[in-house]
This record gives sequence, C-alpha cells and structure tokens, in this order.
Amino acid sequence: MKSEFDICIIGAGMAGATITAYLAPKGIKIALIDHSFKEKKRIVGELLQPGAVLSLEQMGLGHLLDGFDAQPVEGYALLQGEEKTTIPYPHHYKGMGLHNGRFLQQIRASALHNESVKQIHGKALQLLENERNEIVGVSYRESLTSEIKSIYAPLTITSDGFFSNFRDHLSNNEKTVTSYFIGLILKDCEMPFPKHGHVFLSGPTPFICYPISNNEVRLLIDFPGKQLPRKQLLQQHLDANVTPYIPECMRNSYEQALQEGGFKVMPNHYMAAKPIIRKGAVMLGDALNMRHPLTGGGLTAVFSDIQILSTHLLAMPDFNKTDLIHEKIEAYYRDRQKANANVNILANALYGVMSNSLLKTAVFKYLQCGGTNAQESIAMLAGLNRNHYTLMKQFCFLTVFGARNLVRHNISNLPKAIKLLSDAFIIIKPLIRNEISLVAFFYHYLAKIKSLAGFGYGANIQEP
Ligand SMILES: Cc1cc2nc3c(=O)[nH]c(=O)nc-3n(C[C@H](O)[C@H](O)[C@H](O)COP(=O)(O)OP(=O)(O)OC[C@H]3O[C@@H](n4cnc5c(N)ncnc54)[C@H](O)[C@@H]3O)c2cc1C
Repeated sequence: MKSEFDICIIGAGMAGATITAYLAPKGIKIALIDHSFKEKKRIVGELLQPGAVLSLEQMGLGHLLDGFDAQPVEGYALLQGEEKTTIPYPHHYKGMGLHNGRFLQQIRASALHNESVKQIHGKALQLLENERNEIVGVSYRESLTSEIKSIYAPLTITSDGFFSNFRDHLSNNEKTVTSYFIGLILKDCEMPFPKHGHVFLSGPTPFICYPISNNEVRLLIDFPGKQLPRKQLLQQHLDANVTPYIPECMRNSYEQALQEGGFKVMPNHYMAAKPIIRKGAVMLGDALNMRHPLTGGGLTAVFSDIQILSTHLLAMPDFNKTDLIHEKIEAYYRDRQKANANVNILANALYGVMSNSLLKTAVFKYLQCGGTNAQESIAMLAGLNRNHYTLMKQFCFLTVFGARNLVRHNISNLPKAIKLLSDAFIIIKPLIRNEISLVAFFYHYLAKIKSLAGFGYGANIQEP
C-alpha cells in the first residue's frame, strides 16, 4: 500500500521528537503522534551525560540545548560521611543539567517546524497488520474528535515510553522495578561543588543532586524496594537516611522544599532489550530498554540509538522496499546492543554497589585514588567509553581493591572481604548475561590478541 508517510512515530517524547527533528530535515516524511504536546513537569531526563550531549552535537542538534537556562556540568562529586571527592569529566567534554519539559518542547518545536512532518494529536491504540502479519501502521483516537483513525507507513517506530502499550507485540520484555526516586526541587541552593553532579553515599541507599537551572537544584532520593513508598514510610526514610546527611550549605533550601511538599515519585525500572524483530516496526527509547537512572544514562542510550537507527535508515535510497527496511532494523538492534551495554550495566551495577555498605566504601576510596582507574570509570559513566573490556576490568579492579583494603587493614576482615567479592559477583553476573554476548566478547578479544601477536586476522574488528 502506498502511504503518504515514510515513518509513523508513536510518542513525541525524548526519543520520538528527537528522531523526528533529526530525520525530517533530510526529507523523510513523518507522522508524529502523541496524546499531549503540552509542556510537562517531570523529574526524568534532567541530567545529560557528556555522551548524550556529544550525540546531539553529532546530529547537528546541539543548539537545542540553548536558550532555556540549561546548566553545564563538569564532573561528579561523591560524599560519604565527612569525606568528599570530585572527579572531572574527560577534558573538553561536559554534561548538561536542565528542565526536561523545557528541553522537550524545544526539540518538538524543531521537529514540527519541518514541512515533511504531520503532527497528530491522539492516543495510539493498535498496530495494524496486513495478511502477512507485517505491521503497516497504527490506529489512534484523535484527541479533538475522539474518532478512531488509522495511519499507514512502511515503518512504524514505537517510542511511547516506559508504560509502552506495544511491547508485547515487539519484545519479550521482562520489566522489574528496582526502586523509586523521590524528586524535589531545591531553590536558591548552593551545592558543595557547583557545576557537579553529586552522589551522597552516607545513607543505606544513595541520593543525588545536580543543577537544572541557574537557581534550582534537582534532588532525587532513592527509596529501595518494589512498593510505592507510603507517606509515613517516606517520612521515616527522609528523617533517618537523608536529612542528617544534607550538607549545611543546602539545608535551608532542602527544608523549604520539604515544607512546600510537591514531591514527585517515579519508579526506576530495569528492562533489558529483548526485541522480537517484525517487519514494519521498530522500538526506540524506554519502550525498548530501561536502566536505573542513578547514572543518568537514559538519554545517552536514547540519543545513541537514534544515531544508529538513523544511520541505517538513511543508507536506503527510499522507504519503498520492506525487505531492505527489515534488514536495517535487524542491523540497528544488533549495533545498539553493543553500543549500550556499558551504559546499562554500569547503571544497575552502580546502583547495587552504592546500596551495599562494603562495596560503596570500596568505590569511594577507589575513585578517591584518582589516576587512570578513576578517569576510565568517569569516562564510562559519561557515556564516552563504551568498551566492554574496560568495564569488566574496572569492575574487577574495584572489587579486588575493596577486598584487599579490608584484609590489609585487619586480617580478621577476611570474611567481609569474601562477602564483598561474592556481592560484587551477584550484582554483575545477571547484568552481563543480559547485556553482553559473551561469545562475541571472547571472540573479539581472542581475535585482537591473535592479531597483536602477528597471526594476521582480526585486523578489521572494531572496538565494541
Ligand atoms: C526518575 C527518573 C529519572 C531519570 N533521570 C534521567 C537523567 O537525569 N538523565 C537521563 O539521561 N535519563 C534519565 N532518565 C531516563 C530518561 O528520562 C528516559 O530514558 C527517556 O525520557 C526516555 O524517552 P522516551 O522518549 O522513550 O520516553 P518519554 O520521554 O517518556 O516519551 C514517551 C512519549 O510517548 C507518549 N505516549 C505514550 N503512550 C502513547 C500513546 N498510546 N499514544 C501516543 N503517545 C503516547 C507520551 O505522551 C510521551 O510524550 C530518568 C528516568 C527516571 C525514571
């Protein structure tokens, strides 16, 4: 069926709006559906790691960060008890702290400004299939009229966020809630280290903060467990695990924010990408893949996925050949797995580490030592180093460092050292199983070693 569109995009959120802003100026005809195009106040996607900023710049969309008071972020500060340490991002790279709603409106405006984009206000209802079970479009309820209508395109992108309605048709997802984040805005707040993301490690689970405008700081407090925190439990958590550890310079703003209320609570999901590859449709963003937001890795993954998918789609002469589109979708799923494994593993591994008293002390001291290990670790957190080998190496070094420190301090700490090693293994094992193809990993490094040793082949293998 000939359609007036090349792509139909469900959801004009961070993923859907950004890929539209990137592809539409290249002449791709896009139908962009969302049930609301109004600015939202959300606590998600407010810290862009340098990897996300870099992707935007590489797509020529870096200017979308201008003009709404977004704040540069130069590195991280860790605070545990009375001790503090900072680690700068690699030279020349910066992250950005911002109001997600304002940023998204800026991206949407850039997307909708193109003549090749049709904006559709409506709720997407169902994927439409032809007699060969290929997806050919989507039905939706138009917001203004409540009429059910259909839109057809050779490719449908489902980017309808973390409560996606279309996962069941396009993936074997297993979604789990790791914890909840409670969000507060601290006004006129002075942080211990301006222009830094802060991770507070003194309580049983971490809380973080970063600037989102020139006079506002976002505070995100982790509430462990799979149950939505009830009011009384939340108050107990704040009293015991947060309030005592708020630095003096932030205290007034913090207390004022508590008095004003207005907490926002969001579940933190982990969902590895397990796509079912079907003709005519592809998933993008949180609909496909989620990780703990502690490291602010979500948009690094989203923007990198957009680059990968777009590169494959733009290599086609047009959108007329469904078999060719299908090949490109397969290539996208394959490439994105490699590109995002570090971001995903690091997010959930660090959440596990920072919720474990032995491991979080180890990580604090490890990073405090500075040097190459701290630099490699921050480059991975920044989304700039995606090499799986570096990730595994740093994780092993960290755990051995932690265990050795315990034993060196006092040999009677040996059982604690063994527990630290075993906890680290329990944290990392399922993540590696989900995110990295070990066969590909070992083949890759075997080939690299052989090529270095002069056996000749493997020279064309790219770094993951
Ligand atoms: C608490 C929290 C904090 C986070 N903090 C950060 C951070 O600091 N940095 C970072 O990089 N990442 C962060 N993330 C992750 C990041 O926000 C997400 O990865 C990102 O927003 C995903 O974008 P998306 O487009 O997939 O989803 P969304 O941005 O949620 O967009 C989905 C869109 O789809 C629309 N939609 C849904 N259903 C339908 C339907 N049926 N029909 C039509 N439209 C529909 C919605 O209206 C919405 O506009 C955080 C996540 C959480 C939970």
